[in-house]
Amino acid sequence: MSAKADSADSPLPDAVSFAGEYELEEAYDPESRFADMSDVEPEFWLKKPLEQMNKREWELLCDGCGKCCLNKLEIKGKICFTNTYCRFLDKESCLCKIYAHRFQKVNDCRDIDISAIREKPRWLPKTCAYVLLDEGKPLPAWHPLISGRAASVHESGASLRKRTIVNESEVTDYENYIVEWEDL
Ligand code: SF4
Ligand code: SF4
Repeated sequence: MSAKADSADSPLPDAVSFAGEYELEEAYDPESRFADMSDVEPEFWLKKPLEQMNKREWELLCDGCGKCCLNKLEIKGKICFTNTYCRFLDKESCLCKIYAHRFQKVNDCRDIDISAIREKPRWLPKTCAYVLLDEGKPLPAWHPLISGRAASVHESGASLRKRTIVNESEVTDYENYIVEWEDL
């Protein structure tokens, strides 16, 4: 998993220099991630600390909300989310269009690892499954691991799909796009 870290110092990613449109690199069905869970221990997230999870388990933890791909500003030591999103996020699916090459193409795209989850000030949304588990909290009912369906994150309103968000390519004044959504 990956996402945009605090971009206060350089709100515009290097991706600005990339011309042209990107499409999702593969025909990817988000539902397929949760279709066959026979290779993972049932309710593994209740039994293992984050540090002990394997790659498959780690990836399954991501709820697919897309909120980590919003641009943020750090103001007086506090992370302020904006409703502007990385130009490589697919607004409908809330998936990265360049997942395999995201770190080469976007300078401030960060891998979601333990250090990112624990970084202060917190720049991941409070609903992020990694943050919740690290804080000893349960996964919400809409998390695909609980519901068994990838679509539940969108149906619940927890993802970016139904929100008013603006492509960063249309924005220079990020401070005018700060939002105070309760789930950030
Ligand atoms: S759970 Fe949501 S916020 Fe956390 S890494 Fe996945 S998409 Fe980003
Ligand atoms: S490159 Fe992809 S994963 Fe990284 S911030 Fe942009 S949309 Fe998110």
